[in-house]
Amino acid sequence: MGLNKKTVRDIELKGKRVVMRVDFNVPVKEGKIKDDTRIQAALPTIKYVLDKGASLVLLSHLGRPDGEVKPEFSLKPTADALAKLLGKEVKFAPDCIGENIVAMAKALKPGEIMVCENTRFHKEEDMKAKTDEDKKKMQGFAAELAKLGDVFVNDAFGTAHRAHGSTALICKFIPISVAGFLMEKEIQYLGQTVENPKRPFIAIIGGAKISGKLEVLTSLISKCDAILIGGGMAYTFLKAQGHNIGKSLCEDELVDTAKQILAEAKSKNVTFLLPTDNLAADKFDNAAQIQTVGNDIPDGWMALDVGPKTVAAYTAEILKAKTIVWNGPMGCFEMPNFAKATMAICKAVADASDKGAISVIGGGDSVSAVNQSGLAGKMSHISTGGGASLEFLEGKKLPGVFALNDL
Ligand code: AMP
Repeated sequence: MGLNKKTVRDIELKGKRVVMRVDFNVPVKEGKIKDDTRIQAALPTIKYVLDKGASLVLLSHLGRPDGEVKPEFSLKPTADALAKLLGKEVKFAPDCIGENIVAMAKALKPGEIMVCENTRFHKEEDMKAKTDEDKKKMQGFAAELAKLGDVFVNDAFGTAHRAHGSTALICKFIPISVAGFLMEKEIQYLGQTVENPKRPFIAIIGGAKISGKLEVLTSLISKCDAILIGGGMAYTFLKAQGHNIGKSLCEDELVDTAKQILAEAKSKNVTFLLPTDNLAADKFDNAAQIQTVGNDIPDGWMALDVGPKTVAAYTAEILKAKTIVWNGPMGCFEMPNFAKATMAICKAVADASDKGAISVIGGGDSVSAVNQSGLAGKMSHISTGGGASLEFLEGKKLPGVFALNDL
């Protein structure tokens, strides 16, 4: 499945006033950007729009300011970083709606660019609208945003699963709404991966909890040849199999669901791999005492990583695969003593990619693990959207994509 929506390539941009949603939700500490990957990822579309002779207003959120103006969530540092990357002036608007801001947008000449302040400084951007009045407020905000341009471009895959003012609702108030290159690339990769995977197609699913990944697990069982489970979520599965998991992370209310997932995988003939050994720690600390144990974790101990036998079994499965989706680390990789399995899986996925497998990494933590491993360049596609990539893989329609003009 490709993207059945128009992109910036399909429309006339010369002399147009483009308003574009980007994902500049970068980590900022004391006004300094710690990682500019997301700004870099938006550059191809930004440059294209400017080169075609349009003026450009950029909208984004940063963090969760909860509808209040909080200086630590200002997008000003991203405007400065973008100016450096583009080697040209980037104006900064101190808000994203209002007469003055619209006037600033209208004053931009072709080829000029402006970043607006955080859309989430307005609660109408991302409120959970329950009443009609709330919905009207959100629509009103989106209509105000729409005054910033005459063409809307959405290049923020990371927020495409949210029906927010600047991601989806704005499309109702602008006649032309199209996707940017990053959005197009994400949808193409993820679409290809799930619709027409080269087999064997395997999914590596880890991370803290089953709860956030139940739907994706269910959806992947009907598509994959094998599913490899790691991370904290593995221990709810092990408990479902009757193991003693000590103090390991467990969602007791999901033990029955875990049993159902195991039964479903079996009935669909999907290889469903759980750990066979684990690194157990006496406390949640990098300096904890560690012992390698099987699937029964001693009382008072907690499993914080999967063990070497598990890594060997998973590696063998990964090296056979032709398509690999990975979401979620195998252990608490932020602590070096519990990062070994996650790093070994990075290496295995990189090796499989070298042999021609398609590898798609989604989810903030798996992406940072891959970056930490130094093997990011080996992966076929590193998704900029954790939640969005999961919802896409679940087969859900992403509101920020759905609202764009059809081809
Ligand atoms: P998620 O956001 O669901 O992908 O979860 C990522 C987080 O899961 C990371 O911060 C890991 O430290 C954490 N995690 C991975 N394995 C474990 C584990 N065995 N016990 C507790 N937390 C874990």
